[in-house]
Amino acid sequence: MKVFVSGALRGFFGHSGSVEAAGTTLGELLASMTDEYPGSRKALFDDNGRLRAYIRVFVNGEDHTPETYRPAPLPEGAEILLLPLIAGGAPEEPLVSDERRKGVTLDNSDIERFNCHLLLREVGVKGQKRIRAAKVAVIGAGALGSAVIQYLAAAGVGTMKVADPDQVTLSNLQDQVLYGLRDVKRPKVASVRDRVRGVDRGIQITAENIRIDETNVQEFIAGSDLVVDCTDNYVSRYVISDACVLSGIPLVFGSMHHYEGLVTVLGHRGGPCLRCLFPSLPPPGLVPTCAEGGVLAPLPGIIGSIQAGEVLKLLTGLGEPLNGRLLSLDMLSWRQSVLRIRRNVGCPVCGDSPTITDVEAFDYRDFCGLNEADDQIPVEALEPDEFARRLEQGPALTVVDVREPHERAILRFPGAVIIPIGQLARRQKELDPARDTVFICREGKRSILAVNTLREAGYTGPMYSLKGGLNAMKDTIFSHEGGWL
Ligand SMILES: [Zn+2]
Repeated sequence: MKVFVSGALRGFFGHSGSVEAAGTTLGELLASMTDEYPGSRKALFDDNGRLRAYIRVFVNGEDHTPETYRPAPLPEGAEILLLPLIAGGAPEEPLVSDERRKGVTLDNSDIERFNCHLLLREVGVKGQKRIRAAKVAVIGAGALGSAVIQYLAAAGVGTMKVADPDQVTLSNLQDQVLYGLRDVKRPKVASVRDRVRGVDRGIQITAENIRIDETNVQEFIAGSDLVVDCTDNYVSRYVISDACVLSGIPLVFGSMHHYEGLVTVLGHRGGPCLRCLFPSLPPPGLVPTCAEGGVLAPLPGIIGSIQAGEVLKLLTGLGEPLNGRLLSLDMLSWRQSVLRIRRNVGCPVCGDSPTITDVEAFDYRDFCGLNEADDQIPVEALEPDEFARRLEQGPALTVVDVREPHERAILRFPGAVIIPIGQLARRQKELDPARDTVFICREGKRSILAVNTLREAGYTGPMYSLKGGLNAMKDTIFSHEGGWL
């Protein structure tokens, strides 16, 4: 009987497209094939003698794996095909062209420095030259950025651009490993510049102390081979993804929350963009930012390192980058999945008939729910000073702490009614509508959500949000010599 063999399996059968084999069942047939070509046994069967799961067996065009892999007689004259899963398709084209690669020379110290890359057959001198010729823009120099920037600098990326608007704070040192005590109160980009130069003086580094938004994103990423998104908020992420699609620059996306992370490559060779993946975003206040939600220290290092790895793969054409695939990683269980994601033909940016063709013309704050809707009554906010004054005046004020228990363990607010945000609607009877009620949280976002939640639930009493949350009260609290702390 003739068995057709496909793809990489042919190598085990003398590179022939078909093999004559004897037998009346599939089992006998395969046994006769492996007897004839002993080298194929390990490719076809595992140690327990089971057909390997990456091979499908078709009998007369129908999939007979693995259910029919049992001694059932095969139909007379059946056409049998062994089809292995094919992994990669065509090899990736490197983002950095041969022409640009040829313009780079490596000197003796480069040869020594990049020795471990040169030893990798798939990277080698050619790959290292591509990395050297590359221009990469990193947006955000926080926790993810710390890992991305340091690994890209160490790997020898020739031209790097970094943007970040912030100064280093003490709380950054928990997971932003690029910085140390001497960097506190310094612009992050100043330390980035020093660090990159400290690793490799051959790198051209531009580090700008700016917040990337719709007005400057196009200019910032122009001319880059790749952009790496290391930001921590929705507005920036959509601005960056849209700008990358419109500029035709691939984007390496990384994000994280608590113990979980996501990495993907967006807008690359027909793959999806961020809007294809998540056409809309959760309502404000539901998913906290990293600063509000917390993150276990090494997670950004892990996710950022994966991003840096994807950058190097894309620049050199190595392996299978995560375009069209979303890597999801959970640190607590090490559960990992690689999900297939597709371009949405109706996507407003990368779809077949896009409606967003200019980032400056799109209202990102509105899209992200940051503008108050016209029909919504604005939430009244109390400034920290005013709040402190009213507290001192006496008991005419009800303070409701909507934070979670573990947050209250960090900073207690005495005398507050404790109702976590999720319980607010059903516990509204505990509040007195005749009294002024002030909601407090960490950053002043959930307190706004609290007021809106109670309004929707029909609560009619006067409500205020503490502007900036307890974060904004720190100075007031500590200058009160423990008066009400
Ligand atoms: Zn899209």
